[in-house]
Amino acid sequence: MTRQEISSLIRETLSNRRLSAEAEAADRRSRIYAEYPEVQELDTEIKLCRLSIARALLQDSKSLAVQKDDELNTLISHRDAYLDEQHIPGDYDQPRYYCRRCNDTGFITVDNQYHKCSCAIEIENQLYAEVTGIHPCNFTTFDDYDLSLFSDKIMPDSITELSPRDNIASILSKCRTFVDSDSATEPGNLLFMGATGTGKSYMAKTICSELLSAGTMCIYRTAPQLFDCLLNHRMHRDDTESVEAMTADKIYNAPVLCIDDLGTEVPSPAKYADMISILDSRAEYNGRYPRRTIVVTNLRPGDLKNTYDERITSRLLGNNFTLCYFEGDDIRRR
Ligand SMILES: [Zn+2]
Repeated sequence: MTRQEISSLIRETLSNRRLSAEAEAADRRSRIYAEYPEVQELDTEIKLCRLSIARALLQDSKSLAVQKDDELNTLISHRDAYLDEQHIPGDYDQPRYYCRRCNDTGFITVDNQYHKCSCAIEIENQLYAEVTGIHPCNFTTFDDYDLSLFSDKIMPDSITELSPRDNIASILSKCRTFVDSDSATEPGNLLFMGATGTGKSYMAKTICSELLSAGTMCIYRTAPQLFDCLLNHRMHRDDTESVEAMTADKIYNAPVLCIDDLGTEVPSPAKYADMISILDSRAEYNGRYPRRTIVVTNLRPGDLKNTYDERITSRLLGNNFTLCYFEGDDIRRR
């Protein structure tokens, strides 16, 4: 997502908030006028009085302006007293902005300088999260890794012939290389396999967090979310400005794409065609940067072959993907 795309979506969100607050205020005013015609009469008189003051000032007639100003204050006092009597809030016709700090403009002034309001920062984070799939609040880092959660005993049926702790340490090192070699020309895709709860998704999200923190665009989606996004985008192709359209484009073109939970989607030939198209399109080096892909699955290599046709498995199990096999007990249950 480019800076321009983000700015235009932030402006649109703020403008929608402002318009909706103003429309609600206009609606409240109409309802009050219908129920209390006196309020409308007083408001009209106040408006006319203000116009008279402006006209008097333009004509340099200060005494008239002072006289009208006195009238205005009396009218305002009447209006306040009447509203109070009827238990109507004095500011009932003022827009109730979502953000009271900036009135939904997205900017505040401190010491005569413009600053981005916290609401605009939150919109930015939210939009970013909608496209990337990870909210900056949920970023994790490699330094958060607690290797002690993984057993140091080699399991009897181990495929890697390493203890889960040594295995995860070795995977961690490959993943750090993946993140550090961001600008490398090697495709360097990763395939995470292993049973549920062995830390595959956590590791994949950590890679994405590290890359996003460093400013590299990266899209994280589970396989069902990814295929749904592409399907919805196909159905609403004309809407090129939406978050979905942006995401669909990034699925093909982002420097890093992570597809989690491959194999949990409801199978269909259209999804498999999408998968091949994504893998092939991303494998073509486009001359600017390599588009690298991380695929995470609970399926074992044999199951992968039974689930997907050879065109997908040959790509995933071929030389372009480095296999990381996760082992150990379900760490989430500890
Ligand atoms: Zn604000």
